[in-house]
Amino acid sequence: MEPRDIEGDLTEILIEEDQIRTRLAELCRLIEADYAGKDLLLVGVLKGAVMVMADLARELVHPITMDWMAVSSYGSGTQSSGVVRILKDLDTDLLGRNVLIVEDIIDSGLTLSWLLSNLKSRGPESVEICALLRKPDAARVDIDVKYLGFDIPNQFVVGYGLDFDERYRNLRSVGVLAPHIYS
Ligand code: 5GP
Ligand code: MG
Ligand code: MG
Repeated sequence: MEPRDIEGDLTEILIEEDQIRTRLAELCRLIEADYAGKDLLLVGVLKGAVMVMADLARELVHPITMDWMAVSSYGSGTQSSGVVRILKDLDTDLLGRNVLIVEDIIDSGLTLSWLLSNLKSRGPESVEICALLRKPDAARVDIDVKYLGFDIPNQFVVGYGLDFDERYRNLRSVGVLAPHIYS
């Protein structure tokens, strides 16, 4: 693959790096207040949540532990089916733990809806959600997101962990991919 400026593959930058940093800091202050005196386990959903997890965790002035899950949605194409398979499970026992799921984006909400009930069945003290992005117009199930970065239009976005065909995860901003990249 030819090295090139990956921002050149975008039609538009939706959210700049410093906007993300500022918003994550605001969310961290809320999280710190809500979990004061409590244990907190951050559960990142691979691979998209790697960047938001890294920045969120380092901004938090709160003792935390981190664990990771990888899930895959059954079904063809780009549409989430809601039938989810665990590719990598947690190493942590959730019994009595305060769990905060860290996600990159909520599209239909089907993946997170499944994950939420799966984790709740493991006997945690609490399970909440932190997501960087949400597409309100794409929602097929109602998800209660306690900590949300930004609502965005119903467009396919890349960057800050989000990929197209495993690329663009290392973009520092979130943007809309140019149509010519798809074809
Ligand atoms: P959902 O089950 O909410 O429909 O989809 C969740 C997953 O689909 C996300 O965690 C993400 O991996 C992927 N996804 C949904 N929308 C986008 C998008 O706009 N861009 C990228 N790169 N991935 C997306
Ligand atoms: Mg994700
Ligand atoms: Mg992806």
